[in-house]
This record gives sequence, structure tokens and C-alpha cells, in this order.
Amino acid sequence: MEIKVLQVAPIGTNCYIVSDNGEALIIDPGGDAADIIDQAEGLNVRYILLTHTHYDHIGALSDVAKAFPDAKVAVHSTEKDHLYRPDRNFSVGFGLDFVYSGSVQIELADGTELPFAGSVIKVIHTPGHTEGCVCFSFGDVLFSGDTLFRSSVGRTDLPGGDAVALIKNIREKLYTLPGRTVVYPGHEGSTTIAWERTRNPYVKL
Ligand SMILES: [Zn+2]
Ligand SMILES: [Zn+2]
Repeated sequence: MEIKVLQVAPIGTNCYIVSDNGEALIIDPGGDAADIIDQAEGLNVRYILLTHTHYDHIGALSDVAKAFPDAKVAVHSTEKDHLYRPDRNFSVGFGLDFVYSGSVQIELADGTELPFAGSVIKVIHTPGHTEGCVCFSFGDVLFSGDTLFRSSVGRTDLPGGDAVALIKNIREKLYTLPGRTVVYPGHEGSTTIAWERTRNPYVKL
């Protein structure tokens, strides 16, 4: 498996391009569409996966989806409509009215399994940062969006946030993954489940 990390505009959100066994996917095309398209050019992009719909994670979605028309766009069902509502995707906070120009092919739920590269990507619904936050588990890797960061957790003070749910979901759904699982968050650097279980100041096991 190859994982490319792009830190994209406007605030350096991590966009991941994952390739394995001749297939590829893009997680959180938050900005800098031309760079993402360039880095993924020639790959067999099967999915564009969204961990949630805050603007910094979806800002390049329209252009990237257009560039890879065979890729299925996937988002948790509770946030699908946020893609089309600037007040809910908070693009208004960046002085923009972002409305996604394309359609959603897959509405995710807890436990959804997406076939990929001869294996499956498992969807873990982890509301707390937002109601429709999901993490994507693939082999020994977890893409955690804005739920779990290295030694930190996602903010819960925005509409749809729930601090109690966030902590419960991290403890019950993420810390129960194997300790060796490498975590790639929506911001900043990677970590492991083993590290966070014992050292995360916000949520210990
Ligand atoms: Zn967010
Ligand atoms: Zn974010």
C-alpha cells in the first residue's frame, strides 16, 4: 500500500491518496484541486471518501470528482445534504458559499464495507466532532479524520459537536483496534492506536 499525504488549502488539511494492488482512492479533497488531480493522475481511482463535510475537507470535491468520473463519492448519510449547504459545511466561515456540483454515489453507515484492492475498507461511524464523522479502517491503517489526532482530539464546540460521544466513540470503537494500527488524521502527523491509548491527554483507555 502506498499513502501520499498532501497538505491542502485553506488550512493545511491532510488529503490522502491511497493506492494498493492497482486501485486507488482519495480521502478528503479539501483544497488545491490541481495538485490532488496531478498526484492521482493515471491511477485507477475507485472512491473519493469523506470523513465529514467541513469545508476544509471538501473544498476541492467538485473538481476532483469531475476529474475522476468513475470514482464513487462516499459520505455518511447524515451529512450528505451538508455538501450542498454552505451554512452546514461552514464554507461561509471562510467567506465562501461552497456547494458541491456533483452527486453522491454511496451513503455510508457504521459497518459499511467497501471492496478495495482485493480487500475491504471498513467504515466506523464516530460522531462527536460532527454527527456524520466516520473513520476508514483498511488493514493496519486507520484514517481518522477530525475524530482522533496525535495526542489530541477533534473540537466539539461547533454545531453538531458532542464531547461525550466523541470520547466514548474513541474509547470504544478506535482504542479497541490493534495497537499497531497506524492512524492518519485529518490534520498534523500520524500516530498509532497504542501510543494514543496511553498518552492522549484527552482520552485514555
Ligand atoms: Zn472538521
Ligand atoms: Zn478539519
